[in-house]
Amino acid sequence: MIRKILIANRGEIACRIIRSCRKMGISTVAVHSDADCSALFVEMADEAISLGGTTASESYLRGEAILAAARATGADAIHPGYGFLSENPDFAEAVTQAGLIFIGPPATAIRAMGLKDAAKAAMEKAGVPVVPGYHGAAQDPDLLLAEARSIGFPVLIKARAGGGGKGMRKVEEEAGFRAALESAAREAKASFGDSACLIEKYVSHPRHIEIQVFADGHGNVVHLFERDCSLQRRHQKVIEEAPAPGMPEDMREAMGEAAVRAARAIGYCGAGTVEFIADASDGLRMDRFWFMEMNTRLQVEHPVTEAITGVDLVEWQVRVASGEKLPKTQEALAIDGWAFEARLYAEDAERGFLPAIGRIEHLDLPEDCARIDSGVRGGDEITPFYDPMIAKIIVHGETRAEALGRLTAALSKVRVAGTTTNAGFLTRLSRQEDFVAGNPDTGLIARHLDDLAKPEPLAPEMAVLAAIELSGLLQPVRAQGPVDPWSACDGFRLWSPARLHVTLAHRGEPLAIVLQPGLQGQAEARVAGAPLHLGWRRLADGTVALTRDGRTVPVTVIRHGRAVTLHGDGASYSFEIVDPLQRADACETGGNRLVAPMPGLIKRVLAAAGQAVSSGEAVVVMEAMKMELTLSAPRDGIIAAIGVAEGEQVREGAVLAELLAVEGGDG
Ligand code: ADP
Ligand code: ADP
Ligand code: MG
Repeated sequence: MIRKILIANRGEIACRIIRSCRKMGISTVAVHSDADCSALFVEMADEAISLGGTTASESYLRGEAILAAARATGADAIHPGYGFLSENPDFAEAVTQAGLIFIGPPATAIRAMGLKDAAKAAMEKAGVPVVPGYHGAAQDPDLLLAEARSIGFPVLIKARAGGGGKGMRKVEEEAGFRAALESAAREAKASFGDSACLIEKYVSHPRHIEIQVFADGHGNVVHLFERDCSLQRRHQKVIEEAPAPGMPEDMREAMGEAAVRAARAIGYCGAGTVEFIADASDGLRMDRFWFMEMNTRLQVEHPVTEAITGVDLVEWQVRVASGEKLPKTQEALAIDGWAFEARLYAEDAERGFLPAIGRIEHLDLPEDCARIDSGVRGGDEITPFYDPMIAKIIVHGETRAEALGRLTAALSKVRVAGTTTNAGFLTRLSRQEDFVAGNPDTGLIARHLDDLAKPEPLAPEMAVLAAIELSGLLQPVRAQGPVDPWSACDGFRLWSPARLHVTLAHRGEPLAIVLQPGLQGQAEARVAGAPLHLGWRRLADGTVALTRDGRTVPVTVIRHGRAVTLHGDGASYSFEIVDPLQRADACETGGNRLVAPMPGLIKRVLAAAGQAVSSGEAVVVMEAMKMELTLSAPRDGIIAAIGVAEGEQVREGAVLAELLAVEGGDG
């Protein structure tokens, strides 16, 4: 049996692996970058070794340094988690050659599935249905176009070395094919060092349904049913569930059997996922699913499978890697109830899902009603170096409706301050009617994006409560005892000014509030001129009971620096005290300068000095936190100077481009 495991990963998945190791009495070694030196996973591990550096290539991708750490600490196995080195066959081989156990499949199996074209060829041979298309070696654009024509539009161009939705382009008709191929190949070359592409039929009404498989070193292979990951944004999963809604039993069996066949065909061992695409234009049908790719690792969304099968997949990985047989046979596995997982990210859905960085000033996740897999704590920093995931929120119920109800409830209890999250977006998505009805498809989010990502309308009473807090009128929680009428008079001050004028910034816009505190936690106020009356009372649990027009709701008020974040009535709002000088400055520079919203890498510079640009025209493409950001001209004008070059790493606030100032213009 393995006694000590080195975890070659970070964040939530490192924490997740440590939890199973603790349960099994196995000691753990963390490796970490400088940016992660005080991270939760480092604290949770029994030992931690610094790799130095900040970016992935300076740290978690350094196979040699990780092997040295394993040797130095006497670890007998390495768990790669997901991402980073998990699907790197050379690393798997190096681990084995060093006399250590790689907790994952053999390098040969990783290689067999590493390139999508070779994988599809192998699966065809094994009798697994694959998506109709071209996956040959020739890459001449004319030939690929001819193939696309014979497949029939729409088609999907995919990088054969692709992953994470990169190098993928949907092409509706012949006219757009060449340009799409060129840009897919360019992105593939830049991301994977390989520009080769394959062409697939674009499946109509697509649903992403994947099968969890597990194999041991004794010839046993089972599947642990399906997960539906159709809710995606830009080919990235957002909410996953198990089982798949509307799945006929014969199709489930056929998919499970095909996935097991796929695993056997490549001599698989350990945990893996076979991803299929299904055509759901006529419901789910057993002759309408096709192999897309196999992920030869533990998947981000593995917890939904754990929830419906009762299996600890990490424990199974460790047992199988130790040489044990699979703990259960296919017959002993069954589906119990329904589960969902939502990925909580530090990103701003209302601003094009821009990744948000910064300190998580306050973090309160619904541990009482959901399984929370997280790698961060309140006070931690979301850095630009890695994926901005805050947590995975996993719920289980007897029926789909019950589990989904729990998901919505759990999401609405997420309380984060200091950084923007996608919680509001996820909450709205969990209530979206097609999804609720059990009809997800991979285009659902894009079709309903305007509704799902729309800004929460400002509730004026929340703005007033923020002004009350920021003016120091909201007293801290009292230590004990029943509240007597006098101590409840939070708004009452003998020296209270008759009237307060406060300007707050809400989503970058100024909001003028006039506040006239009265007795007993009452106030008259005007928000942007509109009058309202409200009452408030601090409750024993620290929340504030906020009353407007006879309706009272509990609100969590979190003060952080010059800002305050309120969570209540099913939404979150953040306000900041406006510094008049800073605003003037922001206005001035906003007109003439294009500034990096966060640290990142400059991918492309699309304009040159002297060039005329119109408002909204793309000027610079940068990459930050696994995402491409297009930065556009703030107004019509002429580029005075470009401040960066392609390939350059920039800091937040760096001036990317400057426009010629306009005489008396809107600058
Ligand atoms: P999965 O297929 O397991 O759901 P995703 O589709 O979310 O994973 O991830 C897309 C790609 O990004 C995968 O190749 C995955 O390995 C990688 N990835 C996901 N999360 C991380 C992370 N935290 N760090 C590094 N790589 C990651
Ligand atoms: P990656 O390696 O980036 O995960 P995949 O091949 O797994 O690439 O595809 C990612 C997503 O793209 C799928 O989950 C699905 O939403 C969509 N997709 C892939 N192939 C097709 C297809 N042939 N037709 C329609 N959608 C597809
Ligand atoms: Mg995939």
